[in-house]
Amino acid sequence: MAVYTGPACRRCRALGVKLFLKGERCFTDKCAFERRPYPPGKSRNTRRKLSSYALHLAEKQKAKAVYGVLERQFRRYFEEAKRQKGETGANLVILLERRLDNVVYRAGFASSRREARRLVAHGHIKVNGKKVNIPSYLVKKGDVVSVSDKMKSKEEFKQRFEENARRSSASWIVVDMDNVSATFADIPTRDDVQPPFNENAIVELYSK
Ligand code: SF4
Repeated sequence: MAVYTGPACRRCRALGVKLFLKGERCFTDKCAFERRPYPPGKSRNTRRKLSSYALHLAEKQKAKAVYGVLERQFRRYFEEAKRQKGETGANLVILLERRLDNVVYRAGFASSRREARRLVAHGHIKVNGKKVNIPSYLVKKGDVVSVSDKMKSKEEFKQRFEENARRSSASWIVVDMDNVSATFADIPTRDDVQPPFNENAIVELYSK
């Protein structure tokens, strides 16, 4: 499982947007982007004029950073999105949203997608009652995602789950607080997701 392991906050500052890669910290005044909202290594007043290629590339970098996907896998999602009916950009967003680690994060089982990926990889997540340890597993409509009994019994997990679930705004995921499970009730639309990047710029970039 190849993943980016570099400094998360640096990516937000370099790309000029909060990507919420660090869980709790992103919602506090410790957020590096709030404190220094300019690219690393530059002064506050530096202004860069970017070419259209650089702007499109930045949108792709944001999408990869948000979902924690590296280039080769991202390209595969793009090719799959192109094969599907409808708009390629919207299809791409929905494919990324269906990743198991993303659903675990959206359900509130983890504070960030990074943490969600660890939970999945360490065998703490079940889909329809069966353990699935592949973060890129694509969740289908009606699938029920739950956590292992070991994780459920941890007091720290319970507290964080309640806080995370309160913050989550994914209307397509129905969370059962008592059973610590979440049903992927519907496939979201692109407008439901509201990603912090422009997926059409990514389509343009790959079409050049
Ligand atoms: Fe980005 Fe979160 Fe770091 Fe803020 S705390 S810069 S939102 S990763």
